[in-house]
Amino acid sequence: MVAQPKIRRVTVHQYQYELDDVGKDYNGFNMVYLKGGKSQAKGYVFTVETDAGITGEWAGGSAETYAQVGMIAQYLIGKNPLERELIYNDLKRALRKNDRFGIAPVDIALWDIAGKLYNAPIYQLLGGYRKTLPAYASTTHGDENGGLDSPDAYADFAVQCRERGYPAFKIHGWGRGLVQREVATVLKVREKVGPDMDLMIDPACELNTWADVLKVGRACDEARFFWYEDPGKDGGISAFGYKKLRQLIKTPLCLGEHVRTLEPHVDFIVADAVDYVHTDATYDGGITGLMKIAHAVEGFGLDVAIHAPGPAHRHCFAALRNCNYYEMGLVNPKLKSTKPPIYRDYRDELDSVDANGHVPVPQGPGLGVQIDWEWVKKHEVGKVVYE
Ligand SMILES: [Mg+2]
Repeated sequence: MVAQPKIRRVTVHQYQYELDDVGKDYNGFNMVYLKGGKSQAKGYVFTVETDAGITGEWAGGSAETYAQVGMIAQYLIGKNPLERELIYNDLKRALRKNDRFGIAPVDIALWDIAGKLYNAPIYQLLGGYRKTLPAYASTTHGDENGGLDSPDAYADFAVQCRERGYPAFKIHGWGRGLVQREVATVLKVREKVGPDMDLMIDPACELNTWADVLKVGRACDEARFFWYEDPGKDGGISAFGYKKLRQLIKTPLCLGEHVRTLEPHVDFIVADAVDYVHTDATYDGGITGLMKIAHAVEGFGLDVAIHAPGPAHRHCFAALRNCNYYEMGLVNPKLKSTKPPIYRDYRDELDSVDANGHVPVPQGPGLGVQIDWEWVKKHEVGKVVYE
């Protein structure tokens, strides 16, 4: 029997970095291409140390995530890191007045510990299904700066991505709800890329009215889109609004990125409001929470969609049948990189796919990736230790 370790220290490292040729769009929220632009961003690495000499590590999360980690950190000290289900349920209750983002770093670090202790990659502990994952190219938002600044620019980029091997392409359009330009982009991308590439659009909740949502949806029907994601200013959470939309358009809806954790995702399915059920380990309670959603979705005979890239998501997808694509985002024809170089042996960028548009699943123990601690220490701007 494996010895039963205990958690003895939890640490949050905060770092700061700069991205080149990146700016923000009209409201300061969306990252877009901007030649000569310098964008400062913050990131986090979270570690859980045990008395067995094994440390779980995860890079990700945001300020609100770690505000919640601060609320539950003392609970973790002395707990058995192999009891993920117990810890998930305790944290779910403890964070019930928040969005529960604080579960993710803990749960993912605990899966990393389990993988290192059992000397197996996480996807095998979850029940391995595949070793490579078909990816879709997921664009940055539209700009007015010579990057993705017209329907033709998106269409040309889709052709480039297809030539790189990507089997699918997702448009993140412009802010401010210019519906005619969104419609033109949907039609132009299909026209230029031909019939075979799977196409998606995610207006990222920028379309102002339900009428605009319907207009873009009808264009998706005409262009035979694979899915239509989070279009409206309801913020992707109005089950009734999307049930009505599904009665009027044929394109499958991908929703759930802004619906938090297992039970509300299931309620969205029962409300007849969704086709592809969107989930993210960072938002939905870690790997444990994501897998609960994916299996609940399987039980309804549907597919799950996993939001955003990252090592934890590669492991989850690799252990699932009912998932179609890995999101390689955000990518832009003029940007080499949209992420900090946080790993020694792992990347999620436009050129990270093979000739078939697939990415591999890390095969080392746990998450199977090496954080570049030298880089982290050099860029560290804060550290909080709980013990
Ligand atoms: Mg989205």
